[in-house]
Amino acid sequence: MGIKEQYAQVREEVAAEALRCGRDPQSVRLIAVSKTVDASGVASAFEAGARDFGENRPDPLKEKQTAFPQARWHFIGNIQARRIPEIVASAALIHSVCDEGHAEKIARAALHAGKTQDILLEVNVSGEASKSGAAPEEAEALLLACTRLEGLRVCGLMTMAPQGDRAVARAVFDELAALAKRLRASLNGDDAASFSELSMGMSEDWREAIAAGATMVRIGRAIFSEGFSE
Ligand SMILES: *Cc1c(COP(=O)(O)O)cnc(C)c1O
Repeated sequence: MGIKEQYAQVREEVAAEALRCGRDPQSVRLIAVSKTVDASGVASAFEAGARDFGENRPDPLKEKQTAFPQARWHFIGNIQARRIPEIVASAALIHSVCDEGHAEKIARAALHAGKTQDILLEVNVSGEASKSGAAPEEAEALLLACTRLEGLRVCGLMTMAPQGDRAVARAVFDELAALAKRLRASLNGDDAASFSELSMGMSEDWREAIAAGATMVRIGRAIFSEGFSE
């Protein structure tokens, strides 16, 4: 199968899994993580109907966003402070904010660009040292700091589960969903209404993520790697 067919298959499976979990398929956004392919790979997925793409580095984000401005581009990688203005220029949603200093710089860049930047707070639920993200107990303070910044809209939370054990992944996703629920209850009005997204689940664990309430799954290899099998 090529990229077009793999995208179509993943899209269908994601919708079927949402239904199986008693959820509206429209409530799960499929983000095609195109970090391993060039613009021609993006073009194939776009032709198959993909409109949300994820990148983890600022240069390819900018290049591909420029080539496909009709798509929504998601920044899902580690943030380097000096690259923030470029990320803000290209990203519809930044999934990986876990530092108050970065949030302040993003807000400033957004105001400068005349936009409100949508962000998610990345939480390191599993506590693995190799993973980035705020500790769960730091999330509330970070959220409150972010909601005070003009130019930012905090749309929810993001996490990555440890690889290799689906039961562990499911527990991590359940924990993120519970944390989001608690945090949402601490917000008022517009801040509470905006705080509705859960970005979780990748090629190997997106089914567990949908069962736990993911509103965005970030899928790379299952779409773009030839012969990927779960
Ligand atoms: C690469 C990446 C993905 C996609 O991972 P796959 O296993 O290829 O589906 C999702 N989220 C983040 C943050 C990534 O860096």
